Amino acid sequence: MKQLIIEMEEYASLKNIPIIEKESIKFIMRFIKEKNIKNILEIGSAIGYSTILMASVGEEVTVTTIERDESRYMECLKNVKKCGFEKKINVVFQDALDVNLTGVKYDMIFIDAAKGQYIKFFEKFKYFLKDGGYIITDNLKFHGHVGKSQEIESKNLRGLVEKIENYITFLENNEEFETNFYDVGDGLSVSVKKDEK
Ligand code: SAH
Ligand code: MG
Repeated sequence: MKQLIIEMEEYASLKNIPIIEKESIKFIMRFIKEKNIKNILEIGSAIGYSTILMASVGEEVTVTTIERDESRYMECLKNVKKCGFEKKINVVFQDALDVNLTGVKYDMIFIDAAKGQYIKFFEKFKYFLKDGGYIITDNLKFHGHVGKSQEIESKNLRGLVEKIENYITFLENNEEFETNFYDVGDGLSVSVKKDEK
């Protein structure tokens, strides 16, 4: 397992695959343990790095993960097999915005896919969160660009950074969820559904 994780880190760095920062995945793994989280939905598997590490936290932890890129999906499946987690991890090859989830609700949802679609992911998947469940989002600093969109020359990059800034505002003003932001790795948020009174 340890060897596989190192191989995945090397593969990701070689192929420019944006896997989560070590500090961030450690934070999330601790969180899963502390909150006794059992079933997780992940948006954006890439090669299964964060998926496998989250699933490794405890015997009973299971993860459903969604990936729309075929070669990454295949690589993810391969890695899940290598560590013998076929029963704990369900890899779905589809665009998350097209996925039909039925019935199941999750203790935690980890949003780590296209940065421009964060609000859409949040609004779609919040219905699949258990009461008292958590939504964690990665890359809210976007390599230090967030908060400085006006200084960015490239139109594409500026557009993307503005979308992340809008997502942060969306979380800050959200009536349904209470969000804490953490300056860990590339920036994480943890949103929890407020009690209805
Ligand atoms: N969670 C992974 C990294 C994910 S990188 C890890 O830390 O190890 C983001 C991934 O999200 C990419 O592989 C990309 O193909 C995928 N992605 C982006 N938008 C998506 C969407 N709408 N539906 C499914 N996957 C998406
Ligand atoms: Mg990420």
